[in-house]
Amino acid sequence: MIGADKLALIGGIPVNSKPRPVYNTIGNAEKAALMEVMDSGELSGFVARAGSSFLGGPQVRALEHAICDYFGVKHAVAVNSATSALHCATHALKLEPGDEVIVSPYTMTASASAILFAGGVPVFADIEEDTFGLDPLAVEALITPRTRAIMAVNIFGHPCRLAPLRDLADRYSLSLIEDNAQSPGATYQGAWAGTIGDSSILSFNRHKTMQCGEGGVLITNDDSIALRAQLLRNHGEACVEDMHLEDIANTIGLNLRMTELEAAVARVQFSRIEELTKPRVRLAQRLNTGLSCIDGFIPPAVDEQCTHVYYVYCLKIDAEMVGIPRDLVAQALTAEGFFTRAGYLSPVYLEPLYQQRICFGSTGFPFTAHAAPHTLNYDRGSCPTCERIQDHELLMTDIIYEPYTEVDMDGFVEACAKIIRNRDDLLAIHRDRTSSP
Ligand SMILES: *Cc1c(COP(=O)(O)O)cnc(C)c1O
Repeated sequence: MIGADKLALIGGIPVNSKPRPVYNTIGNAEKAALMEVMDSGELSGFVARAGSSFLGGPQVRALEHAICDYFGVKHAVAVNSATSALHCATHALKLEPGDEVIVSPYTMTASASAILFAGGVPVFADIEEDTFGLDPLAVEALITPRTRAIMAVNIFGHPCRLAPLRDLADRYSLSLIEDNAQSPGATYQGAWAGTIGDSSILSFNRHKTMQCGEGGVLITNDDSIALRAQLLRNHGEACVEDMHLEDIANTIGLNLRMTELEAAVARVQFSRIEELTKPRVRLAQRLNTGLSCIDGFIPPAVDEQCTHVYYVYCLKIDAEMVGIPRDLVAQALTAEGFFTRAGYLSPVYLEPLYQQRICFGSTGFPFTAHAAPHTLNYDRGSCPTCERIQDHELLMTDIIYEPYTEVDMDGFVEACAKIIRNRDDLLAIHRDRTSSP
């Protein structure tokens, strides 16, 4: 018994010895849609000129149409990545240099850099314990006369506190952007996540639930946001004259166009959104049930007003109760055959870009364009909840996709139990490591 229970980290037999399967949901329908475009010879439908080809080819439009229908919104603008879609969202704000946008620090780097590219400066507000999204109280405390927008991130598959954030945006006349790359199909008070903000984005990159290679979409009910997004996507400055646009602020463009190939694949993947989400939810719920019986392992919270789509599985551990440091738990779980990461990403403000305030050129633009740059706080300690969760509490694993099964989920729970049973061995490793020079 003792021998069989030996931790894989110190040479025992792992709970799971199967290799990690690839997440591959590309089937015959995706292949057929792709080949249809290949056969047509029209691999992109965009021309940077006012007129019908300004908005792209038939696949891009059909994808946009399907997304509008599903989410019940007026406009969808398909671009070559969700990062580009975030650029569309911040570009549409028509910021003056140095304007502030309040954003979550617990996100993928692009949420904040899209603000800088639009000439604004990110102001990071702390997150709250359960949804890992912006804490509305922290946001309100940071609103100043220079604040123009809030960028909320629905992280890990769960919406953040969208109603109070919407309320703040309305009360202070701010725009609300939802970075919904990780949570398409989640709901908040019965509404789709991504439809409460003035604009939101979704992603089709290879890590997301739906994939097409690279791709992203901005959705909005606001005509002027949609137009600015379309102009940024397709060389707007060359089109405004023929479009008779009077207000040319932020009509300068790039080439962020999605090809017909990606749109065709994205369209099929999007038609399967529920089918692709279901296994994640089912497997995550199995983990939730199993982990709730293990002291110190805290399954992800699901707010009663929300549904969770489990882009990844993030649990918290109470290291004191478990009696083992979090990072060692992650290593032990990985050794047991379930890849587990200690934390997600460092709070964005700890990146060198913010620590040194060097962005465009070498003298600090756009931070220097802010009216009172010394009031911008990117210091360690500025979002203590985010830092504590990232440094000590969060464990992330992405085993909640097929072909993983319920048996594998039970294996993960068993691996957690095994770690607790072998606490003394792990603490010995910890002592060895911390005492060596
Ligand atoms: C994946 C992701 C993005 C960027 O998506 P891309 O399509 O890779 O550009 C932005 N924000 C969040 C929260 C993400 O998870």
